[in-house]
Amino acid sequence: MPQQTIRNQLANKLAAKQERSLLRSLLARTHTDAPTVSAGQLNNATGAPAYRNFSSNDYLGLSQHAEVIAAFQSGIQRWGVGAGASPLVTGYTEAHAALAEALAAWFGVERVILFSSGFSANAGVLHTLRAAGAVPVIDKLCHASIYDGVRGYLGTAERANKAKQGSSEFLRFLHNDYTDLQRQVDNLAFASEDEQEHALIVSEGLFSMDGDGADVAALVAAKKRANGLLMLDDAHGIGVMGQHYRGVFDAPGSKAIDVVTGTFGKAFGMGGAFIATDHLIADSLVNDCRHLIYSTAFPPAQAEALLAALKVIQRGDLQAILQQRVQQFRQLAAEQGLRISAAAANAPIQPIAIGVNELALRFSKALAEQGLQAIAIRPPTVPNGTARIRFTLSALHSEQVISELFAAIADILAVDKELADACTVR
Ligand SMILES: *Cc1c(COP(=O)(O)O)cnc(C)c1O
Repeated sequence: MPQQTIRNQLANKLAAKQERSLLRSLLARTHTDAPTVSAGQLNNATGAPAYRNFSSNDYLGLSQHAEVIAAFQSGIQRWGVGAGASPLVTGYTEAHAALAEALAAWFGVERVILFSSGFSANAGVLHTLRAAGAVPVIDKLCHASIYDGVRGYLGTAERANKAKQGSSEFLRFLHNDYTDLQRQVDNLAFASEDEQEHALIVSEGLFSMDGDGADVAALVAAKKRANGLLMLDDAHGIGVMGQHYRGVFDAPGSKAIDVVTGTFGKAFGMGGAFIATDHLIADSLVNDCRHLIYSTAFPPAQAEALLAALKVIQRGDLQAILQQRVQQFRQLAAEQGLRISAAAANAPIQPIAIGVNELALRFSKALAEQGLQAIAIRPPTVPNGTARIRFTLSALHSEQVISELFAAIADILAVDKELADACTVR
């Protein structure tokens, strides 16, 4: 009977999601979406198939880049395909160390610690800092991995104790609203006399679903007032944003950020992640972070490929192509009256707001019928009532494909009045 109950529960949950146009499924894409040629060569002149994926985070096309692929291949010749162990056992190689040192030098931080994924890096660093008494104060729109790092961490007794004091395991502030942040930090100080010293302010650098950025200088000021720590997840900014493509590290005041999470799954085109920080926090991660200690290191060949990717990123020519595509996208979208975001002016993330889940799905499906991949983003990934198509631009896109995208959008909206009303400003 219990087995049946559990299965019934699962089935009911899925049925409820289906009802609200929130059911998700895995779709296997074909390799023809990912032509193995370098960015910039992808146009009609080469005869290569055009890149029509507008939902990938491969902003610079490094997953397909010839230099990166060559480095991965020669890395495999040297190391084989796997690390063979977790980092503290024998999984951390000279290839990993070289990558970590190159990143630390580029950012100007003391240390970089590598993780298997951004999800585990965020959850891991938050567990470690929580265990040292930090109370996270989190921007409401932060990524799921940040919430996984702070939820359900306290034991029952500790939780009850906190509840009695009127505080919680973590606090949230309204998105990019630093007045509300200050209010939350003050609440924390009120709940317990010495609590203020432990505030850990958490935000993203470039927000993943909205393409808008945090104000680093304001966050640094807030952390100083709180006498706490500042952690920024810049999964989407590093490699793409900023004068030197270092994301939040290019922002004024960045020296005072305590922890930065970056991932290799976005601009770097592969997978894996890192925490950039100081010696004290790095040593604490190496000694206490279970997500690091008990998880297999990513392959050393991949570390070599990532080092090659870093060199391409530092050159900046792909970012110049990307920026042209972003501006072309925004101009065409504005001409059609689509709801683009002013705050995402230079970002590779360009959401078109729709609102209703079912309409967002319909838009995505209509684009798919024209061979254009642009996935509908629905709750709980974004707040209720804010379903959208989150278009992402890449250096792999040709100018022509972006023109084709907007021709397709014009056709779709011409025959679907309801959808047109939802996603255009008139
Ligand atoms: C993708 C993402 C992560 C997770 O990184 P992975 O390496 O894909 O696990 C964390 N934070 C943000 C903001 C992200 O967008």
